[in-house]
Amino acid sequence: MGMQPWKRRIFNNSPMWLRKFLANMEAMKRVKTRRGGDYQTHYEQINIKQILFENHPEKKLNQLNQLLATCRSNIPYYREVLPEESLLNMQEIDQLPLLRKEDLRTNLRKYVNENPRVGFWHGTTGGTAGQLAFVRDQRSLHYEYAVYDKLYAFAADKEKVKKARFSNVPILKSTSHQPPFCMEVSMMKQLQCSIYHLDERTYGDYLQSISEYGADIGTGYAFLWQRLAEEALAHDDQRLKLKAVVSDSEGMTGEQKKMVEKAFDCRVYQTYGTSEVGIAAVQCEQGYYHILDRVHVEVVGEDGKSVPDGSDGEIVVTDLWSMDAPFIRYCPGDRGSFQHGGCSCGWESPYLETLTGRVRDYIVTAQGVKVNHIARVMGGIPGVRAFQYIQDEPGQLHIRVEARADFDPTKMEKAKANAKNMIGEMRITWEVVEEIEKAPSGKIKTTIRNF
Ligand SMILES: [Zn+2]
Repeated sequence: MGMQPWKRRIFNNSPMWLRKFLANMEAMKRVKTRRGGDYQTHYEQINIKQILFENHPEKKLNQLNQLLATCRSNIPYYREVLPEESLLNMQEIDQLPLLRKEDLRTNLRKYVNENPRVGFWHGTTGGTAGQLAFVRDQRSLHYEYAVYDKLYAFAADKEKVKKARFSNVPILKSTSHQPPFCMEVSMMKQLQCSIYHLDERTYGDYLQSISEYGADIGTGYAFLWQRLAEEALAHDDQRLKLKAVVSDSEGMTGEQKKMVEKAFDCRVYQTYGTSEVGIAAVQCEQGYYHILDRVHVEVVGEDGKSVPDGSDGEIVVTDLWSMDAPFIRYCPGDRGSFQHGGCSCGWESPYLETLTGRVRDYIVTAQGVKVNHIARVMGGIPGVRAFQYIQDEPGQLHIRVEARADFDPTKMEKAKANAKNMIGEMRITWEVVEEIEKAPSGKIKTTIRNF
């Protein structure tokens, strides 16, 4: 969801007041998409404590049957494969076919309603087997953002939450060292913090900006909150207090989480989700990921059927609100194990006990900052069947490319430009290889770090 390159160029070369204006314009567009439709109704109806603390499979079943009925009449593929009758319980979902990235990549039109009732949101997601362009029903986003806002309110223990956010939105040139490194986006009640400038010299500017802004909670990239906490603790700097950090993803170990909680005197809620299906689960104090009501999650074996609680398997997610671009039994490519209830944290909702192979890959910039969402470095380069990053030291990156016939070597210049836009200067080299070695699971290891 980053800015288009041309916008980013204008943005980078503008004075602060203009950047603030442009950022608010961008935000207005996003708010319109996310908080349109039935967002307000959802927001008023959603009881986030009930979703986390209680277990209501009957509500999910109802929503699932509505989803299936809509898909049966509107989606070419599901017209043929879905049964006529409603499902009698959630377990029966395993009679439906799994949906893989490959299916969407090959023939997206088969899987969407040509005349969407509300509208589509267009996204891309990285992956070593190439990018996937997909669409989501905006109805799913409206429900998702209502859940997000309720979750923030729950974490902050108040309505109208002020957030400080680390995400891939440009604040100033990555080569600049002049504070401020944070910018207020009033449209979103948010202080946007640069992910490219945080280090042992600048951490104080960040702590000052965030506490002056009066942020209730922190959101966005987990590893930057962890980095800021590291510096605050190392310098015994206690000026920033937060109610909570609600990260966009998982990836902090128990130790790192404790560090953030100590540094800002707050709770940390990591979340699990993917860009295709959105937020799916919230981490409890025991470290487990409790499933939200907007999705149904299964953990399945080779045969596509649920494995027993506690056993490792592939994670399968159904977005219960994406009616016109359904993700029914979708495989995002993650593994884990499931428990249907009885967590000692007190929340009754079912949860993922483990998320294996899910510590996200990252690369390290010359400034020592870890950056994930790195698949985008290879974004927009045609003819790439697969790729792999090798990093021998911070600030340097070697890319192995498995090429198709239409691969154009001159287009690799774009990788350098992408990297520069996202993370600052990187020394990038690349080579074409016959075949990238696969792990025993059949997957390609995205990043090999030799330091
Ligand atoms: Zn729990």
